[in-house]
Amino acid sequence: MSTAPQTLSGQCLCGAVQFAIRAPFRPILACHCRQCARWTGHAVYATAVAPERFALTSGESELAWFRASDTAQRGFCRACGSSLFWKPDSGTHVSVLAGALDPPTGLGVGGHIFTDHKSDYYEIDDDAPRYALDVGSDLRFSSQTVGEEADRLKRLPYRGADMRRTFQKWDDRYSRLLGICWSLCAIVVLGTWIAYRFGYLS
Ligand SMILES: [Zn+2]
Ligand SMILES: [Zn+2]
Repeated sequence: MSTAPQTLSGQCLCGAVQFAIRAPFRPILACHCRQCARWTGHAVYATAVAPERFALTSGESELAWFRASDTAQRGFCRACGSSLFWKPDSGTHVSVLAGALDPPTGLGVGGHIFTDHKSDYYEIDDDAPRYALDVGSDLRFSSQTVGEEADRLKRLPYRGADMRRTFQKWDDRYSRLLGICWSLCAIVVLGTWIAYRFGYLS
């Protein structure tokens, strides 16, 4: 994952709604809930920022909000129908759909949520942690750096990709151990040769 720029811009399909967001950006969360699937036709991959780091630069009259639940609204372009934003009533953050951002974004997927609600026509095949339900609703961004947020995500219990992760860790450790063994062998051989060469052994 490369480093995200300090500012990212984005727009809807027709270009009427344009916006900019400022770092820190939350790692992308992929939501596999039924609402997101119906809203976009697939899972929603979204980053998020504190509300004061979000700016609508064009298309205020075209941006519409749909209340899909008691706790949040979903923003879309009334002209072209693009799904763009998700905003909880708590006001903690604004989620921005990653596909609407102009690449390169420098962002990476930090986790999958609502994986128990995922449809059966696709698989999640990356190593990001998976959460059966939501972990994103209480996320706060105003005081948190991206690093802290990523650490918090890592500490949460998850299932799924952990086996592959364990093997990778083991693989790394094994390689290191092998390196140490070779170094020890080299030292013993060299030591023995020196000992013979200078007559300490005969
Ligand atoms: Zn549009
Ligand atoms: Zn969702």
